[in-house]
Amino acid sequence: MPTETPSTADRTTRPARTVLVTGGNRGIGRAIAVAFQEAGHRVAITSRDGSGPEGVLAVPADVTDAASVDAAFTRIESELGPVEVVVANAGITRDTLLLRMTEEDFDQVVATNLGGAFRVVKRASKGMLKARHGRVVLISSVVGMLGSAGQVNYAASKSALIGFARSLTRELGARNITANVIAPGFIETDMTAALPEATQAEYRARIPAGRFGSAEEVARTAVWLASDDAAYVSGAVIPVDGGLGMGH
Ligand code: NAD
Repeated sequence: MPTETPSTADRTTRPARTVLVTGGNRGIGRAIAVAFQEAGHRVAITSRDGSGPEGVLAVPADVTDAASVDAAFTRIESELGPVEVVVANAGITRDTLLLRMTEEDFDQVVATNLGGAFRVVKRASKGMLKARHGRVVLISSVVGMLGSAGQVNYAASKSALIGFARSLTRELGARNITANVIAPGFIETDMTAALPEATQAEYRARIPAGRFGSAEEVARTAVWLASDDAAYVSGAVIPVDGGLGMGH
């Protein structure tokens, strides 16, 4: 029997996984959910109102509430099977300068962006350990490394995700579980579209690529990190920022 080298087509025939994307009803999370679905995976999303893209299991959950996260997992597990890929994407901003930042502004952002990732990944890790397979993808931001005036709370929560992923890599790396961070730069979303044209032009001038990124470009990176091709990539910070954060 002649031995055959697997063709590119064979390599792209991936096993279907059960994927959960938090905050998958709009923006970057929605694009990530759709990209996983298009790649042939079983996809669930959480959103606070239970809405989501067509063909995806949408489950209501508030990532600041462990009981609600647990209930969402129980439902996803019963309908789609154990979660093998988790993308912690839900995030908020409460921008203001430090002197004006309230305890609540700080706590809410950290509880959602960092605490949310903790609650979701902790709950997912049980099934991943059992399966001896798992992919954790945390959506951070270029400002976690560059810093940003008016975003002490947000930038702190986003850089903390790097320590989170790297510690997880040390804890669970030997169990075939990877944990990586995606650090998007300026991505075309409702948020960036609402900025005045002059502000958008100013931002664009700072980006070596000369343009904002698309949510789909972030999504394709998430799909790759969750694939078998990225099995030996863990504890990494992958920038999707057109070069904005280079050197950090
Ligand atoms: P978005 O506001 O459109 O979406 C955020 C999602 O998180 C929404 O679905 C929202 O419902 C959900 N969410 C917020 N709080 C939640 C909670 N307590 N429980 C459950 N869900 C909650 O924002 P986006 O621009 O799509 O951003 C997605 C992620 O990417 C965020 O983590 C954000 O920080 C990060 N990011 C965005 C950009 C950008 O340019 N848009 C750049 C870097 C990083």
